[in-house]
Amino acid sequence: MSGAIQAPRGTYDVFGDQARARVAVEQQARQLLEAAGYERIETPAFEATDLFARGVGAATDIVQKEMFSFDDGGGRSMTLRPEGTAPVCRSYVEHGMHKRPQPVKHWYFSSFFRHEAPQAGRYRQFWQIGAEAIGSDDPAVDAESILLLAELLESLGVREVRLRIGSLGAPATRAEYRAKLQDYLRAHEGGLSEEVRSRIELNPLRAFDSSHPGTRTVMEKAPRLLDSLAAEDRAHFDEVLGMLQAAGVTYEIDTTLVRGLDYYTRTVFEFSSDALGAQSGVGGGGRYDGLIEQIGGAPTPGMGWAAGVERIMLAAPPMPVAAPALDLYVAYAKPELRGQAFKLTADARKSGHSAQVELAGRSLKGQLKAAGRAGARYVAIFGDEGTALKDMESGEQRLVDPAAVLHHIGHPL
Ligand code: AMP
Repeated sequence: MSGAIQAPRGTYDVFGDQARARVAVEQQARQLLEAAGYERIETPAFEATDLFARGVGAATDIVQKEMFSFDDGGGRSMTLRPEGTAPVCRSYVEHGMHKRPQPVKHWYFSSFFRHEAPQAGRYRQFWQIGAEAIGSDDPAVDAESILLLAELLESLGVREVRLRIGSLGAPATRAEYRAKLQDYLRAHEGGLSEEVRSRIELNPLRAFDSSHPGTRTVMEKAPRLLDSLAAEDRAHFDEVLGMLQAAGVTYEIDTTLVRGLDYYTRTVFEFSSDALGAQSGVGGGGRYDGLIEQIGGAPTPGMGWAAGVERIMLAAPPMPVAAPALDLYVAYAKPELRGQAFKLTADARKSGHSAQVELAGRSLKGQLKAAGRAGARYVAIFGDEGTALKDMESGEQRLVDPAAVLHHIGHPL
């Protein structure tokens, strides 16, 4: 005998107050992002594996070990989306969005899938709010994008937020720097952790992320990418910082900021909350000027971010959520009257009221209790003596013409 089936490890159900709180977060994001001209986008929950291998980068943790991939039945490998930027870029290319006024700005509220070890704030299916602006490399795009996430976190009351920002420069600078860093790491190999040592070739930048004490000591003196930026990248970065200052956004420059995805160029940033435990990252992103070309489009700059919905909700005070209003509950004294009750309920909803009818065959007494629990403003009761309408606020009850119930509930009795 096996027991009842449960949700898979690292996943969870959303219902009740949590579902309502989540809707409030989504509405806040929508309001803020749509006011800035971002339009909603929905992409499929799975994509060709190649999109992430090419887009996110074959050397990243995501592609190396965190993807849920499967065969589509025709020998093609598909992957449940681990992130949203590559899919939005795929969509931009596929739909010829370069013909629209640039940048094309989209936002999403979607679920993503990563095969990670579940822990507090880390799930295998999680939700992100994301924003992507594709088609302009103007530093104002970077500054506005960062500002929007800062405003979103502030409006939701996310506590103890810190913004760290850096720049990775152009790919050529990064490649040169990468070689320099590799030389440095090889020269100090003895102090590094096994894992960092094994990844010098593949992903040397991740050495900055290590919590291994020896590695951290070595990294303190490691060359910094920010010191090697080309003049135009440095100027771009300075303009982004200048606009953030003008907008009153507080930030710290972080010369070691390395994001887990390979596609970033120039600006990178991360918001964290000291109110969270080990998983303190709330959201982050950056510029990805090489990504679209990488997935087969024409060279096109882009900039965006994603913020974790669970982390936001963990780091913010509980959303004030009100139970949904119920204008009318329709009760009936015996089964013969159910048809009429059902019809009145449908008519009430058609005319814009919220209305519920008895659905579990309760006694009339039980139905009135249920109406009270549901917070109904009025109860219509189909009984032997006719149709009564009860005002649940005043307790007043009187017989009414069934055809006039909707008229009455539009007006106080
Ligand atoms: P990333 O796409 O890795 O840059 O992550 C962006 C944000 O998504 C992070 O700052 C987290 O808030 C959130 N996030 C990433 N992975 C997970 C996960 N496995 N579970 C919950 N939230 C996540």
